[in-house]
Amino acid sequence: MKAVVWQGPSKVDVQEVPDPKLLNPRDAIIKVSSTAICGSDLHLYDGYIPTFMPGDIFGHEFMGEVVELGPEARERRPDLKVGDRVIVPFPIACGACTPCQRGLTSLCENSNPNAGEAEKVMGHSPSGIFGYSHMLGGYPGGQAEYARVPFADVGPFKVDEDLSDDQVLFLTDVLPTGWMAADMCDIQSGDVVAVWGAGPVGQFACLAAQIMGAAKVIVIDRVPERLAMAAEHTGAHPLNYENTSVLKELRELTAGRGPDRVIDAVGMEAHTDVTAIHAYDKTKQVAKLSTERPHALREAILSVANGGTVSIVGVYGGLVDKFPIGSLMNRSVTVRTGQAHVHRYLPDLYRRIRSGEIDPTFIISHHLPLADAAHGFDIFKHKEQECTKVVLKP
Ligand code: NAD
Ligand code: ZN
Ligand code: ZN
Repeated sequence: MKAVVWQGPSKVDVQEVPDPKLLNPRDAIIKVSSTAICGSDLHLYDGYIPTFMPGDIFGHEFMGEVVELGPEARERRPDLKVGDRVIVPFPIACGACTPCQRGLTSLCENSNPNAGEAEKVMGHSPSGIFGYSHMLGGYPGGQAEYARVPFADVGPFKVDEDLSDDQVLFLTDVLPTGWMAADMCDIQSGDVVAVWGAGPVGQFACLAAQIMGAAKVIVIDRVPERLAMAAEHTGAHPLNYENTSVLKELRELTAGRGPDRVIDAVGMEAHTDVTAIHAYDKTKQVAKLSTERPHALREAILSVANGGTVSIVGVYGGLVDKFPIGSLMNRSVTVRTGQAHVHRYLPDLYRRIRSGEIDPTFIISHHLPLADAAHGFDIFKHKEQECTKVVLKP
């Protein structure tokens, strides 16, 4: 089959690789109909996630048709059949361990066979994730013609035929992620919410914050079409950080107190115009002395109101330098974070799409054949051709 394979920093290729096979009686094989490139893939693409290796297959946002189903998956989940059309949550979860039972599926204790490697970096391991490094399971991703899905009785979610791939694909990741970002803020009426990053995750975080009752949502980025998209589709107030001092402007918009809740939807490769900070972070990141360039996160922490909440869904890989812990501690700031517990949010968000309350398709700028994945990565990373989200069609 054909799959999108990493070749080293900024290099991807679509190559012929062996077809996946059922390895475990609870596995399924999915014939992929649509798969998307995520901001998280850019961290892999750029070479910042440890243990993602040349030759590894990308992709954790995918959906398609069940073409093979292991005997145990059939037995445990009689409603799932070969031929069913399903979406697949990006964290791999067993459904039975303590975190899975508590709805914390990105912390499943049974889906990362390489947990020991993750423990060296993080102390404890999160769940396995499709196409997201050996440290997180070494699973081939879904930017391919076929994908193996472990714990197929738990992950795959059946979707109605009358909903298009574009309507449901983002339930695998970026929609629940943006939703969880806002959910972790525990938004109270009257709250001002500021969101760093107007990529797909930031767009959905803005939308979710509005739906959850924020009095005002402010979105920060520098890409004009992304800011305009958030304003149009989520009602967020756009702030272009290239034209203004974000901290100052946020104070002015909040009578000096700062936003009550702040969301980091940028992650480890934040950009900044403040040359000294950028040079410092970039040098440390390139030298692998720090894995992150956390400029947006620092700014979010410094700007949040006293007693407020910092919700981090932007991905970080390891260690961070110059972290304003004093600001958090002295000002009673709550930090909440995580890879999205997709399984937990999926049924509710599916109903909201079904009913027409949410139409997540507005983020899509490009549909490309799988064969053009390299071009898709390039324009998504560099924000060229007003690229906001690429859906690949195998
Ligand atoms: P994206 O790369 O399209 O969006 C990131 C946006 O941040 C871009 O628009 C960029 O211009 C903007 N940005 C960069 N520096 C900034 C700064 N200093 N201030 C404000 N904005 C800045 O990616 P995405 O798909 O929207 O993902 C965003 C982040 O969320 C990534 O780190 C990704 O890995 C992460 N993510 C996390 C989860 C999860 O489960 N926690 C799931 C999906 C994605
Ligand atoms: Zn993702
Ligand atoms: Zn589990």
